[in-house]
Amino acid sequence: MTERRIVVVGCGPRGLSLLQALARHITENAQDARWVIHVIDPGELGQGSHPDHQPDYLLTNTVAGQVTMFPDDTGPSFTEWSRLSGYRRFDDRFFRTNGSEGETVDDSDYLPRRLLGEYLTWVFDQVVATFPGNLVLRLHRGSVTDIEGVRDRMAVVIDGSYRIEADSVVLATGHCARKPNERDLEHRRFVSANAHMNSALRYFPSPYPVTSLRSIPPSSSVAIQGFGLTATDAITALTLGRGGRFENDGRSKVYLPSRREPRILLFSRSGRPFAARAMNQKGRNGAHSARYLTRQAVLEITSCRKDVDFDLEIIPLLRQEMAYAHDLAHGRTSQAEPTPEGLVCADELLEIHRSSRTSADLAAWQRAIVDGIEDDLVHAELGNLTSPVKAAADVIRDCRGALRLAVEGGTLHGDSHLRFRDHWVPLMNRISFGPPRARNHELLALIRAGVVAIGGGPGCTVTGDPHTGRWSLTSRIGNQTHVESADSLISAKLDAFEPENDSSRLTQAILRRGLGRSFSNDGRVIGGFDVTPGGRLVDADGRVEQRIWCLGYPTEGPRFYTHALPRAGHRSDFITDARVCIAEVIESRKEREDAHDEAS
Ligand SMILES: Cc1cc2nc3c(=O)[nH]c(=O)nc-3n(C[C@H](O)[C@H](O)[C@H](O)COP(=O)(O)OP(=O)(O)OC[C@H]3O[C@@H](n4cnc5c(N)ncnc54)[C@H](O)[C@@H]3O)c2cc1C
Repeated sequence: MTERRIVVVGCGPRGLSLLQALARHITENAQDARWVIHVIDPGELGQGSHPDHQPDYLLTNTVAGQVTMFPDDTGPSFTEWSRLSGYRRFDDRFFRTNGSEGETVDDSDYLPRRLLGEYLTWVFDQVVATFPGNLVLRLHRGSVTDIEGVRDRMAVVIDGSYRIEADSVVLATGHCARKPNERDLEHRRFVSANAHMNSALRYFPSPYPVTSLRSIPPSSSVAIQGFGLTATDAITALTLGRGGRFENDGRSKVYLPSRREPRILLFSRSGRPFAARAMNQKGRNGAHSARYLTRQAVLEITSCRKDVDFDLEIIPLLRQEMAYAHDLAHGRTSQAEPTPEGLVCADELLEIHRSSRTSADLAAWQRAIVDGIEDDLVHAELGNLTSPVKAAADVIRDCRGALRLAVEGGTLHGDSHLRFRDHWVPLMNRISFGPPRARNHELLALIRAGVVAIGGGPGCTVTGDPHTGRWSLTSRIGNQTHVESADSLISAKLDAFEPENDSSRLTQAILRRGLGRSFSNDGRVIGGFDVTPGGRLVDADGRVEQRIWCLGYPTEGPRFYTHALPRAGHRSDFITDARVCIAEVIESRKEREDAHDEAS
């Protein structure tokens, strides 16, 4: 039997989906050869960014019922696995009891990411158990640091020493860490030069792992830059993670401090917090059924074009769809066109025609932010079908497939693609992909307790002050300039994958050897590795690399929204990408063998 080798680099959820696709494809189509699969990852198998040793208070931001590695129902969802594994809920904690104490884990629970890690490793074991006899697994604990072409094969190098040759290599390396940029270096220099003046002075280019934040002294103050999910993790680590507790006084949550938390100041470029996820009323599989932003409507616009303008051609469909969802929540189902109120709601969410009116001063801005969070939570508690606002915002999640069609494959012109990346993606994340609502209730409790404050308005900047050895947050609100100061600074934003700025030795080797390049559109560098629709890398000269594929977050740029886990009952790009890629990997090997046979 011929032996063929495939290397999978990275075994997080994407690597897992590749193994699922391999098992399926080889069982159904490729019994004529022996396939040796080398899986390489320094971490626990399947877990990727969700290690099972992370603190319990770090929650998934998707309800458990909607997370599954088996969207076609061939295995348990995250909820089902939690129940089968004996997990039970005790208030807002989850313990494995194998008994009947506590409450059953519910589809609407936001489970700790630690449990997600356990689930993923369990899935890994299940998948490997389904491997047919001609599929052999070789596991390697380590990081791939180099990759090069050797005759008609590829060689990957693990941790700079051990080399494996293979017919094909698939990269599923997921989330990334940037090389220190100019701002990081400047901040680090400031800390080195001024630590003698302020022993609490710190800079964290990322809050992960959150255990690194333990070095922040309790009596100090911390500025967190960012209002999104990463900031939520940092706030939780500095409060719940330090022994603080939340109690319910019947009306709202109250924070009981441990006195070990620092004072936290929040600021960001937009100055606005993320909207909370609404109570899910759509069950496990339910989704808004599109009337305007349909795949068909998008295809009619984008077909054979490379000059689509997202603002002019796609946003109008999204706006109408959001208005329609708003109207459905109001029970106006027979309406032929969206109502004016629906359109106003969509415009407000999408910040179309937003007035530039700001608050008079920082105190007024802080009150406005708190009012905004409270108002948003009223809608979030009503649910994503009952609240017209949340129903409209949820369109972005439910119509993700159509949005993908609109932006993938280089359909947008370069400037529109840049604006999509820099304006629309952050805005959509802010209104549609926020934290569980419990986290925003807790944020309000922390503000009331004086532990958290809004540290600046829109456009707030941060600089080191050499006179005080502290960070200064400066914002201009109304006619006034406000300055707040803090001892530590945390940059709370997930790094985008920009190959040139990525700290991974593997990424740098790929660029150095010309095996891959950053994705550009009309000369505008968008980011992510340039790939074909099937996931093959495009090399430095624009040729399709025949032996290397790349899936997931490192392709965010030519692809869109690559990082959501598969959702139950929905077409999952996560799974489709893996299947298309594996079919290509296996076919390409056969084609190369056939070509070789003909030549000899
Ligand atoms: C903090 C955080 C929280 C998140 N929470 C959610 C959530 O609640 N719900 C949701 O749907 N999504 C969430 N996501 C999105 C996340 O993208 C997906 O959940 C999922 O982890 C993506 O899987 P992946 O395999 O592509 O990447 P990852 O999970 O990042 O896994 C990549 C794997 O590749 C390995 N690797 C990297 N480089 C190398 C190398 N050179 N050699 C060998 N191995 C390598 C890594 O060790 C890792 O195991 C979250 C992401 C982060 C970062």
